Amino acid sequence: MRTRVVVLGAGFGGLELTTILSSTFGEAIDVVLIDKADSFVFGFSKLDVMFGRQTPVQIRYSYTDIVKPGVRVVQSVVRSIDPAARRVVTDAGAFDADVLVVALGADYDVAATPGLAEGGHEFYSVVGATALREVLPRFEGGPAIVGVTGKTFKCPPAPSETALLLHDYLTARGRRSATEISLVMPFGTPVPPSPDTSQALLTAFAERGIRFVKDNVVRSLDPGRKVAVLQDGTEMPYALFLGVPVHRVPKVVAESGLAAPDGWIPVDKKTLATSFPGVYAVGDVNGVGTPKAGVFAEGAARVVAKALIAEIRGEAAPAAYDGAGSCYVEFGHDLVGRVDVNFLSGPKPTGTFRAPSEALVAEKKEFGSSRLERWFGRPR
Ligand SMILES: Cc1cc2nc3c(=O)[nH]c(=O)nc-3n(C[C@H](O)[C@H](O)[C@H](O)COP(=O)(O)OP(=O)(O)OC[C@H]3O[C@@H](n4cnc5c(N)ncnc54)[C@H](O)[C@@H]3O)c2cc1C
Repeated sequence: MRTRVVVLGAGFGGLELTTILSSTFGEAIDVVLIDKADSFVFGFSKLDVMFGRQTPVQIRYSYTDIVKPGVRVVQSVVRSIDPAARRVVTDAGAFDADVLVVALGADYDVAATPGLAEGGHEFYSVVGATALREVLPRFEGGPAIVGVTGKTFKCPPAPSETALLLHDYLTARGRRSATEISLVMPFGTPVPPSPDTSQALLTAFAERGIRFVKDNVVRSLDPGRKVAVLQDGTEMPYALFLGVPVHRVPKVVAESGLAAPDGWIPVDKKTLATSFPGVYAVGDVNGVGTPKAGVFAEGAARVVAKALIAEIRGEAAPAAYDGAGSCYVEFGHDLVGRVDVNFLSGPKPTGTFRAPSEALVAEKKEFGSSRLERWFGRPR
């Protein structure tokens, strides 16, 4: 009998896992990939959209393009997950699994930051980034804040990238000298595991006159007075507020009993297995201890794929997950740097920095197009 694998969420984690299982087993496996959306979007494309480098249509890759042996893609909302029975209920019916992989990512809770919806702009969703295409061209100057509102958020370099890209954007529009840019972050340095990356970013901020406000988060906005209130009570005036919203485990996961009371799904660090037999959690939805980023979701999916392949073939279990990944960092001035981080191999996270270059711009492009080729069969 074919092993039934049900994958919840067709993001970085779900797409990578599905692709490996299909290319390994073809029709000999039964994979159902479920997502409520009709298309995939790279996280970093939201920056391209907000700053007008790409349109919202250009960044979407339709799930109907996924034609893989052994794989059925179902567009539907997951309404409930029973991890003990490995049974999932969606708007398109119920699915029973031999192996269930939860890759539903992280949701945003804009309302958790009072005043953000009324007085600021989140740029982490496609909707938020798209709305900013109308706002940024009309911004004439004053204090601009790129502000993180929670301690855990996707792609820790993204707020720093946004501040640098905002500098370029306003410079090109002739509005930079009329604007003071500040970046509020919950860390002491921009990318804590990599002191070299952090130093390069701090130098770039200093060169451009961007103020780095460390070890703090924005708790609320007062739209009437146009001030952002930080965790320590400091008030910062703003004319433009670009916010990273509070992140939460998706509601359906919270209700399933899979998540820890205070957050994400606990997993075995080596295997990504949950405490329920045959149930794994990969990517942003888990609490494995790596940053919430696509490269880590993808790496976790590869480990689970290898484990399933070994199990089905009766082979030895694969090597443990190492929590390693490379993140590209937009430095502005049309250059991209890279940080290679490893979270789980040693006693503490380590990171290596590669300085911004045009070669890394090309490498980032290749990173995206290679995924599109693998996951969607798009020619490069
Ligand atoms: C501005 C920005 C820049 C970023 N830059 C980078 C970068 O340069 N490099 C990098 O590696 N990462 C980057 N990221 C982070 C990256 O996008 C995420 O970490 C990554 O997408 C996580 O993958 P995932 O598979 O865990 O979840 P996701 O890719 O978020 O996929 C989860 C899927 O689950 C679906 N879903 C959720 N709930 C339900 C439900 N109830 N029913 C059905 N479907 C559901 C969603 O529609 C979604 O498709 C960035 C993110 C942002 C916001």
